[in-house]
Amino acid sequence: MRPSILNPLFADLTALPGVGSKTAELFEKIAGPQVVDLLFRLPTGVIDRSFRPKIAETEDGMYAALTIKVDAHEPPPSDRPRSPYKVLCSDETGFVRLVFFRPRADWLHKQLPEGDTRIVSGKIEQYGSQRQIVHPDTIFDPEEGGDLPSAEPIYPMTAGLQAKTLLKANREALQRLPALPEWLRPDLIERERFPGFREAVTMAHHPETRLDLKADNPARRRLAYDEFLASQLALALIRTRQRALAGRSFKTGGELAKIARAALPFSLTGDQDKVLTEVREDLAAPRRMVRLVQGDVGSGKTVVGLLAALDVIEAGAQAAFMAPTEILARQHMETMEPLLEAAGVSAVLLTGRDKGEERRAKRRAVAEGFVQLAVGTHAIFSDDVEFADLGLAIIDEQHRFGVQQRLKLQEKGSGTDVLVMTATPIPRTLALTAYGDMDVSQIKEKPPGRKPVDTRAVPLAKLGQVTEAVGRAVQAGGQVYWVCPLVKTNDQFPATAAEERHAALRARFGETVELVHGRMKGPEKDVAVQRFSRGDAKILVATTVIEVGVNAPDATIIVIEHAERFGLAQLHQLRGRVGRGDKPGTCILLYGGAPGEMSENIKARLNVLRNSQDGFEIAEEDLRLRGSGDVLGTAQSGLPNFALANPSEHQSLLEVAATDARMVCEEDPELTSERGEALRVLLYLFRRDDAVKRLRSG
Ligand code: ADP
Ligand code: MG
Repeated sequence: MRPSILNPLFADLTALPGVGSKTAELFEKIAGPQVVDLLFRLPTGVIDRSFRPKIAETEDGMYAALTIKVDAHEPPPSDRPRSPYKVLCSDETGFVRLVFFRPRADWLHKQLPEGDTRIVSGKIEQYGSQRQIVHPDTIFDPEEGGDLPSAEPIYPMTAGLQAKTLLKANREALQRLPALPEWLRPDLIERERFPGFREAVTMAHHPETRLDLKADNPARRRLAYDEFLASQLALALIRTRQRALAGRSFKTGGELAKIARAALPFSLTGDQDKVLTEVREDLAAPRRMVRLVQGDVGSGKTVVGLLAALDVIEAGAQAAFMAPTEILARQHMETMEPLLEAAGVSAVLLTGRDKGEERRAKRRAVAEGFVQLAVGTHAIFSDDVEFADLGLAIIDEQHRFGVQQRLKLQEKGSGTDVLVMTATPIPRTLALTAYGDMDVSQIKEKPPGRKPVDTRAVPLAKLGQVTEAVGRAVQAGGQVYWVCPLVKTNDQFPATAAEERHAALRARFGETVELVHGRMKGPEKDVAVQRFSRGDAKILVATTVIEVGVNAPDATIIVIEHAERFGLAQLHQLRGRVGRGDKPGTCILLYGGAPGEMSENIKARLNVLRNSQDGFEIAEEDLRLRGSGDVLGTAQSGLPNFALANPSEHQSLLEVAATDARMVCEEDPELTSERGEALRVLLYLFRRDDAVKRLRSG
């Protein structure tokens, strides 16, 4: 149960005076449904009204608070009612016009009576020879006593929401902020000079100058630390619990794996071998394994997973191998089949597409234990699939799954070992936030003979030349991936859609062009992908459904349209589709707009990709260039979103929080001490109840 002290923060926003359901809806759009969401949305700017110049001292673009006399209202002429309404004002040094679009005239007359003095603030603009302020953010009557606040926070807004409404709601929300027990170690508070939590939230919402908005502001640092600590502690608690759960010990002579290895057309790289050894040690140990294998695209994770599965199967249990897409599951099945056959292992493909009797028969075989290995999509873990004795669950390309889903899978079998494999080269910092609950193995070495992919950035204007080059490559027997960001063109986001590109390339190259995208029906996708991977089709136009899967060793070129819209990690993964065979690969990043229009940032990002083939290096750079917001280029990354912390700017705090969390788990794993009780409040505050519920007295 959530500690009742937090109740005011988890009340609906409509509980705040002046917030009706309409306003609450707007707030929900920008923050969330509850009071705490509003409080955790910090200002991004500050209006500093300490600058009080005379009109003549102002310049175009500066923010100022002016004390002015209202001279005359200038309503729009009756034949042009849509023109702005202006109010001429002055001080002893000059004139300024306040400009309003479609205001209510009576309201304006009340606010700005002719002849009165007002303090107005806003951005000064030079309009021809005149100075103006469009929609001043404050109109203050000095007669009313007091002074206008010297500073006012600015929050990101949404259409229909008034700054005033938001400020008022924030004030109300701050008033409801209870004094909470301190959950931080006293020595840390002292060392970092952290304010208390309530004080920090209040300070963060009352910046005086721009300096107060920076990541190194003590209030902001405190809040970032709290958020990190909540997430790290939740992960550490989960991890501690998992390890405490009795696991199973799979000890074998590795006979099946030996047979499969002999049937492989290659030998394992040193890193593959090393990771396999680590996994085997986990499997043999009596505790439960929760291990992540991180390895760049093409580093050969699949075979490591398969060999581990064979150990478990040899020990008499079942294994499951889950891929994120149907296409990938099928392909895994195809590549594994000869090895499984050699080892005499029975396997089945389980996907959401199985229907009727076939579906029932497959599921029965799994439930009765006739099937030793199940390969498939997330259908494997759907509720109607029961395993006779699931010993190992392998989850491929895990970045599509969050911690929650991972936990659900682990609950499928009692003591089931879990091996997660990802090609997403998450920077070290973020790895802490995403995988804090797992042990990590890395495959850094690539199989021998891989050549770097020649990567070029080309403006879309040169589409014609690129098409010709693609034609020449196809003539020479090569295959080409052509990736588009969207399925259909839509007005808001006018990307050249896969369907249009497919039509255009078909018109040029004929039947040899195939199309695959996420909205096609399963069997249609299979046909397209199969025609391509067998070499019958030479060009595969695709959305990012191919990102994590398709293997076509003869593909030598990948063209990525509107590369500027993809995350670097994603581009790197896409690029990994080519140059897998012995022929070198080429990656053409087509970017929108004219060459001169490419922003410095996009140029820098594409350059990172051109200069490095190392996924980890690329991810670190991408984080630096973009901030942590969107490193993976997708919302479904499985990475947590932080409201108050910024993993790239508060990196050092994250590391301290990780250590802190581990110490808590050692000293007080059930959170029963006084600090433990306070930490429970922290976990609830940041909605990490999942971890608390796993405690004995959750
Ligand atoms: P990923 O790590 O991206 O999942 P895969 O497991 O799909 O990579 O392997 C990529 C390709 O490399 C496959 O065609 C696989 O057969 C091949 N491969 C894997 N390990 C080796 C190796 N040690 N030597 C040569 N080729 C290998
Ligand atoms: Mg893979």
